[in-house]
Amino acid sequence: MHLSADITIIGSGFAGSLTALILKQLGFTLLIIDRGQHPRFAIGESSTPIAGYVLRELAEQYDLPRLVPLTKFGMWQAACPDLMCGVKRGFSYFHHQSHARFESKRDHSGELLVAASADDKSSELHWLRKDVDAFLFKEVCRAGILCYENTQIQSMTFDSQWKINAQGHCGSLEVDTKFVVDASGAATVVAQHCGVADRGDQCLTNSRAVFSHFQDVSSWQSKLDDWGFSPSDYPFPPDKAALHHLFEGGWMWNLRFLDGLLSAGFVLDRTRYPLEPEISAADEWQTTLQRFPSLQEQFASGQLAEVPGDFIRTSRLQRRLERSTGNQWVALPHTAGFIDPLHSTGIAHSLCGVERLVEIIKLHWQRSSMTQALEKYEQVLQKEFTLIDLLVSGCYRSSHNFRLFAAFAMLYFAAATTYERRRLEHGDDFKQAFLCADDEAFVAIVRKAHRRLQTYGQSGTPKSESIHEFELEIRRSITPFNHAGLCDPSARNMYRYTIAPNEHDS
Ligand SMILES: Cc1cc2nc3c(=O)[nH]c(=O)nc-3n(C[C@H](O)[C@H](O)[C@H](O)COP(=O)(O)OP(=O)(O)OC[C@H]3O[C@@H](n4cnc5c(N)ncnc54)[C@H](O)[C@@H]3O)c2cc1C
Repeated sequence: MHLSADITIIGSGFAGSLTALILKQLGFTLLIIDRGQHPRFAIGESSTPIAGYVLRELAEQYDLPRLVPLTKFGMWQAACPDLMCGVKRGFSYFHHQSHARFESKRDHSGELLVAASADDKSSELHWLRKDVDAFLFKEVCRAGILCYENTQIQSMTFDSQWKINAQGHCGSLEVDTKFVVDASGAATVVAQHCGVADRGDQCLTNSRAVFSHFQDVSSWQSKLDDWGFSPSDYPFPPDKAALHHLFEGGWMWNLRFLDGLLSAGFVLDRTRYPLEPEISAADEWQTTLQRFPSLQEQFASGQLAEVPGDFIRTSRLQRRLERSTGNQWVALPHTAGFIDPLHSTGIAHSLCGVERLVEIIKLHWQRSSMTQALEKYEQVLQKEFTLIDLLVSGCYRSSHNFRLFAAFAMLYFAAATTYERRRLEHGDDFKQAFLCADDEAFVAIVRKAHRRLQTYGQSGTPKSESIHEFELEIRRSITPFNHAGLCDPSARNMYRYTIAPNEHDS
């Protein structure tokens, strides 16, 4: 079959489908190709306030009202209760020592809770990607966009325009297209065809993951209750959150969905926990759990959920293409690179990338200025990966000492809350990079704190006075970026007022 389209999008994850829907609204002819088929399991589920703002703005700007409910829990429940989701009131972190039970102390010295939403109704969400991606893909089909699932790209050549050959369930496809958006994630389809190198090995973060979906895992709150800790001053129930169990050299995510399903995964620093291929993913899961008795107890009754039905283990997570754009092609953020799931930056970053890209296509399509605009897109993306890499690798570096970790993590929250506020203040004129990655003053602060962490070594107990100095330095340095009462010792790691002002009204 011979087809032609202005723009071909490779990959129908949420980012590819959303890009297709917007470009369709702008009047382009489109084709979307995916090697898989919806509904299917996908990881990357925890959204953030930034993701909510950007998705809502995109939906409003490009007249896609059916997407607005995906931005807040209350609206989602009212409009699309069939799509599975979870409530995310914020971020919670609990520190564990190897072979020791977790203890919640009155001063919260091993806990950090940062609110992102004032209540459940206005809360952010965990997206069950199987449902959300399938919903968006259905919207793509409803919009009349040509979609080919179960279709493998076999060759791509560029000669004034792209020629793509693919093979699918409906036979061979030959596609002529002017422009390609690569939304294939880790598959990096265009980069593979064009020989673009992956520089992920140069990232400071060096992690891998083992994860799955589970049923019947006890909530963390119920375990805290069982163990006689029932803190009354948590700003939100700790399971209604992106819950992080942190330990030296790694952490575990817990994302709970309304039907009781739990997404959980260990993310491990590869220098401390190198992959041992002779140990199965299931065995590695068990031995890692056994190292942390409280987690083992939390998971004691847990069973693998039917989907995906097994443990998934990755190699190094970091990916960073040397180029994310070239001759009439561009990669979306999660295709251009990925650092780590810590702090849930992926969905929001992807949405910010979609927002910038569709604006570029809208303004520069088939103009000579397009190349320059895409180069700028690429530069901004690189700055964003550099900042995320610093923010995340510093957290691994400080994972042996929760005070250092909690202080360093404030840099992420300063970036996120400053970005949110700047967006709200500037409205349509807002042009800044995700997480203020193009704010040199902010990035310099992060670099300095990151360097400083080196002096604390990777393990052992740094002196309390020296940690105090670090905490003070972070507090002082983020003053211009601290709109949310971060680094306040009187908050004792319980931050309830980080929500951007307008969000209270939504
Ligand atoms: C372990 C892990 C945990 C994460 N957790 C979080 C989190 O909690 N919060 C968060 O915000 N982000 C998280 N992320 C990041 C998140 O997964 C991504 O931001 C998100 O998936 C990006 O969506 P996407 O649509 O760009 O790509 P993807 O979801 O990767 O979709 C890619 C699509 O391309 C298709 N495809 C692949 N190869 C081909 C091919 N050859 N031809 C055609 N199609 C192809 C696939 O079938 C798929 O449909 C996590 C990532 C990982 C790895």
